[in-house]
Amino acid sequence: MRRRQFLVGGAAAVAGLGFWSTRGTAVAETFPVSMSDAAWKAKLDPDAYAVLRQEATERPFSSPLNHIEGSGLFHCAGCDTPVYSSATKFDSGTGWPSFWQAVDGGVATKTDHVLVYARTEVHCATCGGHLGHVFDDGPQPTGKRHCINGVAMRFAPGPVSS
Ligand SMILES: [Zn+2]
Repeated sequence: MRRRQFLVGGAAAVAGLGFWSTRGTAVAETFPVSMSDAAWKAKLDPDAYAVLRQEATERPFSSPLNHIEGSGLFHCAGCDTPVYSSATKFDSGTGWPSFWQAVDGGVATKTDHVLVYARTEVHCATCGGHLGHVFDDGPQPTGKRHCINGVAMRFAPGPVSS
């Protein structure tokens, strides 16, 4: 019902986007795993800290995870929650590990305005650590491209359901 109202007319649609944007950025989300900034800094490698906690972006083609083709799960480097599966990984040619879908419940998104256009930021649903961004130019079946910083994840080889 509410969603239908947002789709009626431009003003209502903008109001809808504003609502979600505010919800994602201005109002603090709470996460099951929560630590002080100092504690994260002590726990993480400097590169992982910069990405996960400060939303930095690693250099393209810098992550060894780009080259992983075997079966397994990619875990958040902050809290070790599985966030992506090798079953949804694809070679986007961008230089960042790319997936067309996240593990169910593994991630959450918000709209960021770091650049002049809005992007969909994606983060770990468990600790809030920044993972990357989601774009609409991915392959089927979702059409989504989750462009993820390899340094924000660690790979755990093993069987996965596709
Ligand atoms: Zn996490």
